[in-house]
Amino acid sequence: MDLIVMKFGGTLMGSVEAIKHSASLVATSVKAGTRVVVVPSAMSGVTDQLLKIAATAERGEIEFAQDEISLLKKRHLETAAALGASESGQQKIQAMLESLAQTVNGIYLLRELSKRSKDLIVSFGERLSAPLMCASLEQQGVSAFDLTGGQAGMLTNNNFGNARPLPEAFNRIPKRLEGLFQQNVTPVVTGFIGETDKGAITTLGRGGSDYTATILGAALNATEVWTWKDVDGVMTTDPRIVPEAQNLEQLSYAEIMEMAYFGAKVLHPLAVVPLHEKGIPLRVKSAADPSFAGTLVSSESRPLKNGVKAVTAVRNANIIDIGGAGMVGAANITSQIFDVLAGLDVNVIMISQSSSMANISIVVQQADGKRALEALQKQFAESDSVGTIEFWEAISVIAIVGEGMRGARGVAAKLFTAVANEGISIDMISQGSSELNISLAIDDEHTVQAVKAIHKAFGLEKLEI
Ligand code: ASP
Ligand code: MG
Repeated sequence: MDLIVMKFGGTLMGSVEAIKHSASLVATSVKAGTRVVVVPSAMSGVTDQLLKIAATAERGEIEFAQDEISLLKKRHLETAAALGASESGQQKIQAMLESLAQTVNGIYLLRELSKRSKDLIVSFGERLSAPLMCASLEQQGVSAFDLTGGQAGMLTNNNFGNARPLPEAFNRIPKRLEGLFQQNVTPVVTGFIGETDKGAITTLGRGGSDYTATILGAALNATEVWTWKDVDGVMTTDPRIVPEAQNLEQLSYAEIMEMAYFGAKVLHPLAVVPLHEKGIPLRVKSAADPSFAGTLVSSESRPLKNGVKAVTAVRNANIIDIGGAGMVGAANITSQIFDVLAGLDVNVIMISQSSSMANISIVVQQADGKRALEALQKQFAESDSVGTIEFWEAISVIAIVGEGMRGARGVAAKLFTAVANEGISIDMISQGSSELNISLAIDDEHTVQAVKAIHKAFGLEKLEI
C-alpha cells in the first residue's frame, strides 16, 4: 500500500475554503486506497502574529497582545464552526486559546521571553490548525485524528527555535502512528513542532512544516512526500520578477537544498536531508492544479543544456568585511569569526576570502547584520591582526544553481558577462567546491535587472535538456 505524507502550507490552511480544498486533496488519495499522513502549517499569517504577541507581551504591552489573541480566537472558532467541527473539537480549540492567553500573560508578568517560551507560543499556530484539518476531513468522510509533533514521536534536541530530530524519533514515529493506521484513521500531525525528552515543545525553524513532513516520510518509509503549494511546483526563478520563469520538472536533492539556501522560498533548507538518506522522492505539487505533476525531487541529476536550473536572490543583506595586513598567516582569525557568529546563531549566506588572507568578507541577512557587526567589533577590538571592519548595507546575493555546472566551462563567464552588460558592478563572488552554485553580491537596487539578465543568458525562459 502506498503511503504519502502531504504537507499543506499556511495559505492552503488560510480560510474555510482553502482548508476544504486541501482536505479534498487528501480525501481523493485516501479514497483511492493510499495511506496518507497530513502535515498542516498554521493558518496563513498566524506564526508571525504569535511572534508579535510574544514580543509585545514581553515589552509590557498586554492590551495589544490580548487584542491579537481575541482576533486569533475569532478566526479559529469561526473557521471550526464553518467546517462543521464537532462539539469536542470546538472545545479543544477553545481550551487551547485559553492556554495561549495564560502563557502570554506569564510572559507579560515576567517581562521575559526565552527561546523556550517563544517556541511554546508559536506552537499554538499549528496546534490550532490541525483540529481544523481534522474537522474538514471528517466532513468529507475520512476519519482523522490530530496529534502534536511530540505525540507523533517527533523527539528533538533542545535547540529551541531551530531544533533537530534525534535518531530515536525515527523509531518512535512508526510506533506512535501504527495504531491509527490499523484502524484506518488518517493521522494529522502538526507541522513545525517537536518535543524534547523532557516534554518541552520545540520548533524546527521557520518553514519547518516541510521538515516535519520529510522526517515523518523517512521514519515511515513513505512512498513519496508531497508539499502542496498555491503555485506551480518549483520555478526557474521568482515569477514575480521574471514572468517567463518556467516550472522545473525535476531537481536533485542537492539542487533544491542549494536553492532553498540561496533564498528560493521553496522548501526548508534541511527538508530533503531525511529523504536523501533513504532515496524517498519529494514532489512539490500545485493545489490549484492537482493533476499537474509539479516538481519531482529525487537523487537523480538531470542537468539542463546550459548547466544552470535556477536563479535565486536573497535581498536586503549586509556585507561585513574584516581586513588587516596582520591577518596574513593568522589562521585563528577565521575560526574566531565563525565562533562569534555561531554563538549569535547568525546564518552566513556567503563567504569569500582573498588568497593573501588580508581580508575575509561575509554576507548575512539584514536582520542579523548589526548584531553580527557589533559582536565582531568587540571580538577584534584589541586585535593586532584585524585593522578594519567595514559594513555594507542594501546588498543582494544572486546565485545560479544546477548540477550541470560541475565541470562545465564558460558558466562563470556567461554569468559575469550578463551582469556586466547591464552595467552592474559586483561586490563579491563565491563558488563552493561542490560547483553546484556560483553566487555574487551586488547592490540591492539592481536585483531585478540582474536576475532578469541572468535568467535570459542561461536560456531559462525556454528549457532545453
Ligand atoms: N508556521 C511555521 C512558519 O510560518 C511553519 C511553516 O509554515 O512551515 O514558519
Ligand atoms: Mg507559515
